[in-house]
Amino acid sequence: MNGRPNTTDEATAERSAADECRRCVMTRAVDPDIVIVDGVCNHCRRYDELISARVVAPAERDEQLARLVKRISDSAGRGEFDCVVGVSGGVDSTYVALLVKSLGLRPLAVHVDNGWNSELAVSNIEKTLTALDIELETVVLDLREFYDLQRSFLLASTPDADIPTDHAIQAVLWRVARQNGIKYVISGMNFATESISVPSWSYGHSDWRYIRDVHRRLGTQPLRSYPHFGFATLFWTNAVRRVRIASILNYVDYNKAAAVGELEEKLGWVAYEGKHFESIYTRWVQGHLLPVKFGIDKRRGHLSDLINSGQITREEALRRLEQDDYPETLRAADEKLLMKKLSLSRDQLDAILAAEPRSFRDFRNSYAFVQRLRRLVNALRRRGLYPR
Ligand SMILES: [Zn+2]
Repeated sequence: MNGRPNTTDEATAERSAADECRRCVMTRAVDPDIVIVDGVCNHCRRYDELISARVVAPAERDEQLARLVKRISDSAGRGEFDCVVGVSGGVDSTYVALLVKSLGLRPLAVHVDNGWNSELAVSNIEKTLTALDIELETVVLDLREFYDLQRSFLLASTPDADIPTDHAIQAVLWRVARQNGIKYVISGMNFATESISVPSWSYGHSDWRYIRDVHRRLGTQPLRSYPHFGFATLFWTNAVRRVRIASILNYVDYNKAAAVGELEEKLGWVAYEGKHFESIYTRWVQGHLLPVKFGIDKRRGHLSDLINSGQITREEALRRLEQDDYPETLRAADEKLLMKKLSLSRDQLDAILAAEPRSFRDFRNSYAFVQRLRRLVNALRRRGLYPR
């Protein structure tokens, strides 16, 4: 400051400096709880704090990856498979399939069909597994039940509309592992491209109590076959059957753009026009429901991860945010399908979009317990007692 009185421009600049991280593209507009100190936000600081616990340092990668592969391979004994790999047709899970196969592992691929696959996703899964010669087990959800659960979450008015899919996938992966005596579930989660987690954006993929309560209050069909897990199953799977989740992409130098190129070249896999376009429902949720109703733009989290992991510049991220990757005509077609599958009229859907946002805290939940569990797993990871 040089003693001049604040002009309007300066006041605006100061305000925006307090509302935007200078390192990533997170803002107060999309995360009201953001804490910015010296221009750097809490998400960037968390990234710096957790990176060493979650991602293997470059110098140790070869050795640690080799050790993980040996552990996985040894765990199978004479079993036909040594790991379960969930496949959605998206970049991350397809890259995991390619990676585990190239490392000499013997994966069983599992796909959960929730009725929302895009045609491209289906053809990408087929191409990938044929090219890699991986056996596939497809679990088709009871769609009458499942759509009823999705509808309940839209009526619940929380931003967790996609939780029913995430929960079912996790439940199925664990079940398939247990049924086949497999000790490792290989996940496509990776810290380099999806570390940012904003509690107000999404919660509940492992909280069956929350899911059940939403459905109890707003559902119309009993959930008889929906794959789910409570804490007893969690304990049984992890502590007794000793099934582990290994996020193998945290053991390699995972670069999204490079991964896309490799999949196209080696598998004939075809890229999607936008993130999460493998699922029609997910693209509607992230491309329309979340930004319009909740002011949540998940692209900002994803792009911020790519900035922090050095894969793109902040300028590139800002440029990508300018692009409209969910054209109006596509949205209209997706909504038509949505109304049909979820038995919603136009008026009902409009009412859902206009309803006052709520939070998981308005429903029964196990939030405190889930947080304790997450901290425990991170502490075990730091001591090398749980895979990254
Ligand atoms: Zn930041």
